Amino acid sequence: MEFTFTTEEEAFRQEVRTFIAEHVTPEVIAEQGGDEESGADHPHTDAMIDKMMERGWVRMAMPKEYGGHGGDLTMQYIVDEEFNRAGVFIAHNYGTGYTTIIKYGTEQQKRDFVPGLIAGKIKLGLGYTEPSGGTDLAGLKSRAVRDGDDWIINGSKMYGGSPESTHMYMLVRTNPDVPKHKGLSVFLVPMDAPGVEFRPLKLIKDRARAYGYTGAWAGSSFYEDVRLPQSAMLGEEGQGWELATQGLAIDRIGVTRYLRCTYRTDHMIDWLRDHQLGDYVPREDPFVRDKIAELWIEREVYRLMTMRSLTMVKKNIPIVHESPSEKVWGPDHNVRAIEAIASILGPYMQLTEGEEAPRGGEFGDHFLMAWFVGLGHGSVHAMRDQIARRGLGLPRG
Ligand SMILES: Cc1cc2nc3c(=O)[nH]c(=O)nc-3n(C[C@H](O)[C@H](O)[C@H](O)COP(=O)(O)OP(=O)(O)OC[C@H]3O[C@@H](n4cnc5c(N)ncnc54)[C@H](O)[C@@H]3O)c2cc1C
Repeated sequence: MEFTFTTEEEAFRQEVRTFIAEHVTPEVIAEQGGDEESGADHPHTDAMIDKMMERGWVRMAMPKEYGGHGGDLTMQYIVDEEFNRAGVFIAHNYGTGYTTIIKYGTEQQKRDFVPGLIAGKIKLGLGYTEPSGGTDLAGLKSRAVRDGDDWIINGSKMYGGSPESTHMYMLVRTNPDVPKHKGLSVFLVPMDAPGVEFRPLKLIKDRARAYGYTGAWAGSSFYEDVRLPQSAMLGEEGQGWELATQGLAIDRIGVTRYLRCTYRTDHMIDWLRDHQLGDYVPREDPFVRDKIAELWIEREVYRLMTMRSLTMVKKNIPIVHESPSEKVWGPDHNVRAIEAIASILGPYMQLTEGEEAPRGGEFGDHFLMAWFVGLGHGSVHAMRDQIARRGLGLPRG
């Protein structure tokens, strides 16, 4: 496992930092986060991303033949790490959809989707969870039934997608007569197909700023007699569970999740160095010092876990329990951090704006966000069960 960076990589990090100092302006920061109902406008960020594109820093490690730069994953990690640290989230679209289309897609699907995903023109919503439940994913009820050469889809999905989504990466049941994990398939459903309806969901998390998301991005979607050709199916019929679990394993790890779960700890440490609350100087309080040191150790452990999985991805080592372990450690740290920060700041924690609000009120916003990270891409409870079974070989609970 590689836990350090080479001299060349560190020099590259300096180059990225210099770029950030020049281009991540207050206007760019102001465009991050927000609570827009639909597609937010972010001209300053777009202009900055154009400059990053010229340098080959966006979608850096994606294949050249589909519009990426064929670069190194560690360099990509460094770019992501530095931008996330600076409060800017660069969307790469390299989660479930990208990974599985590259691996399981037909040549035509790769050509139709990958360049668009890389360029950010195709945006996939993740259509797993249904109103009847998300943890029991294999029990989902949306159906696809054959009709001649086509498939007809009926059902609904919860939370996945945004008003900007062009397609839903949709897991549906294609065979109800086999064990539930075996009867699932994935379709890439155009959101403008007749019979598809999307309704945005307003969530408390969309109130939260400085978290790297722009616009509302959850919603309910409904599918009524949606007719799709066979070419809309990704992978083989009945291969849906394999695609879903492999994609989720990738979504549960990575620099973005690590930074989203740890940056409030970093920001609190920064704030403590030169701030106080009235006469109270938190950095001199033994309780605060103890708590902050504990949080810092936790965030360092998470960084090492992330570098372990990066090395595994680079060396093609299968990720088994490592991905759920990260998915538990990060979100749990996230919650412990915000609870500790709340106990340090006391009533100041509730301020989300105004001069007296620490760091402009971002900690109050984080408080609204923190619990969500433990749910998305599989709850921490379900992840613990996976570690017990797949990592430790314990029987099903
Ligand atoms: C903001 C947001 C965005 C989301 N984005 C997406 C998305 O893009 N695509 C998508 O498909 N879904 C998305 N989700 C849904 C998310 O994946 C689900 O909320 C999650 O999988 C849990 O499912 P559920 O909400 O139906 O809760 P349930 O499955 O009903 O679970 C409720 C609680 O019970 C616990 N629990 C359930 N079963 C077990 C068990 N066997 N052992 C121990 N504990 C258990 C869970 O941990 C949870 O705490 C999103 C959710 C939110 C809040």
